Amino acid sequence: MTAAQPHGSGQPAGRRITGRAQRDGLLDPYLARHKPPDPASCPQCSAHFKKGRWQWGLAPEGAQPHLCPACRRIADNLPGGVVTLHDVPQGLKDQIIGLIRNEEAAEEAEHPLNRIMALDDTEDEIVVHTTDIHLPRRIGEALKRAYHGALIMDFDGDGYFVRVDWNPTA
Ligand SMILES: [Zn+2]
Repeated sequence: MTAAQPHGSGQPAGRRITGRAQRDGLLDPYLARHKPPDPASCPQCSAHFKKGRWQWGLAPEGAQPHLCPACRRIADNLPGGVVTLHDVPQGLKDQIIGLIRNEEAAEEAEHPLNRIMALDDTEDEIVVHTTDIHLPRRIGEALKRAYHGALIMDFDGDGYFVRVDWNPTA
């Protein structure tokens, strides 16, 4: 059994990307609005800001306390992205949550501001809130790679927000 490639494009079926937020480099408004001193260190998660970017590691000398944009979004309960997994088979839930956590760990190691802020496991849905617009796409693509199904991504036309829906049975 071979899956036919949609002709002319390498895009997986069921995937749709709209809006300008898909462009790399779109800045989280939290970054612009709360400009940290340089160097700075987040009292909540210990990420630090040095030479214009947030990173992990030892706090630089003279770092001033400043809540990082990810911790600020968590405190304000304002996600940058939402991933909804529909009709997840009970037997696969633990495995799938493990995959989501692995993707988060890999993403966060490189990009300290890209994190899961909430993961709700309800009767037949798993809903993941992230602090950024990149982790949802990464999680969605990993789910599709591992379990196929249908993936839909919608970027907010004007703002910093993405909604990803995945359905393994579609
Ligand atoms: Zn922080």
